[in-house]
Amino acid sequence: MVAVPEGDTIHRLARRLDGALAGRVLARGRLDVPAHATADLAGYRVQGTATHGKHLLTRLSREGEELTLHTHLRMDGEWALLHPGRTLPRRVQPDVRALLVTDEGRTAAALRMPVVELLRTADEHEVVGHLGPDLLHGGFDAAEAVRRLAADPQRPLVAALLDQRVMAGLGNLWANELCYLSGVSPWTPVGEVDARRVVARAARALRYSAASPAGYQVTTGDTRPGRSHWVTGMAGEPCRRCGTTVQVVAEVPGDPGRRRTWWCPHCQPGPGPDR
Ligand SMILES: [Zn+2]
Repeated sequence: MVAVPEGDTIHRLARRLDGALAGRVLARGRLDVPAHATADLAGYRVQGTATHGKHLLTRLSREGEELTLHTHLRMDGEWALLHPGRTLPRRVQPDVRALLVTDEGRTAAALRMPVVELLRTADEHEVVGHLGPDLLHGGFDAAEAVRRLAADPQRPLVAALLDQRVMAGLGNLWANELCYLSGVSPWTPVGEVDARRVVARAARALRYSAASPAGYQVTTGDTRPGRSHWVTGMAGEPCRRCGTTVQVVAEVPGDPGRRRTWWCPHCQPGPGPDR
């Protein structure tokens, strides 16, 4: 199973970036993407990295000028962090899309990063303004998330949970597990579920996963390897709760990421994938 980063993954990554970069001045900083090939970030102080859903917003300032380095990992991107004195292996040099080196000599390298943009911090809304409320933000607007979730009552629950414009932060793992925990099939129309309960459960689960080292992406409460999920990655295996064989389909209809959807037909009654 390919592990695609989810909001909790990105939140934890931002804390690691802060540990390496926040408060430091950049000795070197370059972006290996055509739009920003001439940008020189030397001399900027890293204020910190904020997140909105799966978007990373690394804020920089120098003499009153405030810039944001916007990155998004999508399926394959990575932020690599190196201790002082360490350099990137030669084989990954062609993968570098952004390279930040602090005055302490620590290196942060964005590898294979599909989204690397430099913008004014005041313009961050241009890259994250379309997103729904962030489940991990302190001021998470649950009522707005419920409103957005319920806005299209015919939509399959799994598709609505994955839609970052509804609420930001859930990826495929959490969308699948939340359908299981809600006791309905992934294709159940949103109008047939208690949107308030789904949003509350999503916020609780993602926050716990982001904050608890042992609980990271554990949905069953069982941290043993291979036992941490109810249905995700469990195709062909017996459901932990009822023993019915867990099913999988190759994609969520209309999903460009062609993600897979897992479910237990017994624990999750409702429409099948061909609805
Ligand atoms: Zn079951």
